[in-house]
Amino acid sequence: MLVPPEMRAEIGIIGGSGLYDPGLFEEAKTIKIYTPYGPPSDEITVGEFKGRKVAFLPRHGKGHVIPPHMINYRANIWAFKALGVERIIAVSAVGSLREDYKPGDFVIPDQFIDFTKNRIYTFFDGRLVAHVSMADPFCPELREVAITTAKDLGIPVHEKGTYVCIEGPRFSTRAESRLYKSWGADIIGMTLVPEVNLAREAQICYVTIAMITDYDVWAEKPVTAEEVVRVMRENVEKAKKLLYELIPKIPKERKCPCKDALKEALV
Ligand SMILES: [Zn+2]
Repeated sequence: MLVPPEMRAEIGIIGGSGLYDPGLFEEAKTIKIYTPYGPPSDEITVGEFKGRKVAFLPRHGKGHVIPPHMINYRANIWAFKALGVERIIAVSAVGSLREDYKPGDFVIPDQFIDFTKNRIYTFFDGRLVAHVSMADPFCPELREVAITTAKDLGIPVHEKGTYVCIEGPRFSTRAESRLYKSWGADIIGMTLVPEVNLAREAQICYVTIAMITDYDVWAEKPVTAEEVVRVMRENVEKAKKLLYELIPKIPKERKCPCKDALKEALV
C-alpha cells in the first residue's frame, strides 16, 4: 500500500488497556491501512510530536472492543511497517508475580516466556522461511531510553523482567500463577506475543512499557475492581508523561541490531 508522505512516521506507539488517546498531537490525521492480513485494530493516528513523526494505534481498538486473543497482530505490525515506522513503543497493563514489583510500578521487560496457544506468530508462512533470533527480544536502545527517562521522572521502574504471556482472555488459576512464578517470571499479561516477534521479523525496534495493575492470583490478595481502576488510571497518566519525555530522546539513527534481524534469519 502506498502511503502519502505526510502520513509517514518513524515512531509507532501501541496503546494498551486504558491508553486509547495519548494526547500527543495538536494536529493529527487518521489513516485506514489495508493489509494482506485484514484490518488492523483501528485507524492509525499520525502527527508530529516535538519534531518527530509519530503514529498511534490502540491495540484493542477504540472503546476496547478487541480481546487479546482476537487482535490482528500481523495487520497491526504490517500497518506500522507500511507507514515507515522503525521503532515501536508498546504500552501494556500487567499483573505482578513478585512481592517487590508493586501495583503502580513500571517494568521494562528484557525477556518473555510464551504461553499463548492459538495465535499466528510469523509473517514467514512459506516460500520464504525465516527463523529470527529472539535471544534478546527487545531493542537495547529503546530499553535504555525508556529506563533512564522513567528514572528521571521519578517513576518507580524495574529495569529487568520476564513477561509471561498467556492466551487469555481468562485469568490464570492459582496453580498456573504459582507455576509461572516458580519459573522466574516476574510479570504476566496477554498481549506481548506475537506482537514482539512480528516486530522483530519486520526489523522494527520494539520495547514494552509494562504497567503493573495488581498482584496476580498467587498472592491471594483480593483486590476490588475500584482499586484496579484507580491504579490503572494513575498508570496511564504516568505512561503519557513517560511518552512525552521519551519520544524526543529516541536516537534518530539506529545503532541496535534490530534493523538487521533478517540478515542471518532467512533460510
Ligand atoms: Zn533497536
